[in-house]
Amino acid sequence: MRVTVIGAGTMGAGIAHVCAAAGHDVSIRDIEPNVVMDAIDTITNRLSGGVERGYITESEKEQAVDDLEGTTDLDAALEGADLVIEAVPEDLELKRETFADAEDHVDEETIIATNTSSMSVSSIAAALKHPERAVGLHFFNPPHKMGLIEVVLADQTNEETSERAEAFVDGLGKEPVVVTDTPGFASSRLGVALGVEAMRMVENGVASVEDIDAAMELGYNHPVGPLELTDRVGLDVRLDICEYLHEELGDRFEPPEILREKVENGDTGKKVGRGFYVWEGGEPKDVADDEDYDIEDVI
Ligand code: NAD
Repeated sequence: MRVTVIGAGTMGAGIAHVCAAAGHDVSIRDIEPNVVMDAIDTITNRLSGGVERGYITESEKEQAVDDLEGTTDLDAALEGADLVIEAVPEDLELKRETFADAEDHVDEETIIATNTSSMSVSSIAAALKHPERAVGLHFFNPPHKMGLIEVVLADQTNEETSERAEAFVDGLGKEPVVVTDTPGFASSRLGVALGVEAMRMVENGVASVEDIDAAMELGYNHPVGPLELTDRVGLDVRLDICEYLHEELGDRFEPPEILREKVENGDTGKKVGRGFYVWEGGEPKDVADDEDYDIEDVI
């Protein structure tokens, strides 16, 4: 298949990597040329890592790199696409515009999918002339390591689109979970609920950032704690989702003050080297100094 990924940030690059590694022709598009170049470098390096770890052969990697192209040109990116996956920021109007622009450039059979973490796929789909071709394909971060993809059925999604979307997920070697279009679907709703509560616990001085994470890692066997996960996802991304779920599902999702403050200060997590933790070489090295929320002061 020819897959076009729109948006080459954290998720777009990861989705393009997974699709290229599975043997699809992939085109990745961003409005920022440097983001496109970084994404191609990242994907190439990760594919090389895949060869070193024995997941793919050198010739599969070469083929994937040959079949991968990056561009800022929407026409070129969408030419011949069988499937479009948008991974632009979590903003409803932007996603609707992205869907409508994509539809103008593709065939009637092309599936148009959104990687939204929480927003109404039906509302995004409503921007299309043929919304029955729309579906949510919710990848998880980092896409090449995570086994799940939520297939979110919009009110308008028809059976053919749903079947083709599930078959595509199977072909990537991932597990599809089919979810109806409700705010936050299954995963984000539960994941954000845990993250928000962990942040409130930091604000209330219940325990330190590290100990809250350790409680979930060691006590509940979560691979990473909710605060480290927030850093990995991006605090800005989490705030956007939280604001949306607050509107849709009520006060239990009201964004905690600490989240707003950190985003205002630019401490958006792993991608900038600082969030709830200070990050070095892609790993959390220390808890970020946060005078307002120091457990020592509260006890
Ligand atoms: P990001 O900010 O890293 O990347 C978004 C990219 O989209 C940026 O590079 C930006 O330049 C580009 N962009 C903006 N407008 C564009 C346009 N009109 N056309 C093409 N590119 C455009 O964000 P992200 O973390 O990759 O998130 C993208 C989407 O994936 C969001 O909907 C988010 O909710 C969802 N998501 C994120 C995660 C995560 O862990 N970060 C997980 C699952 C789903």
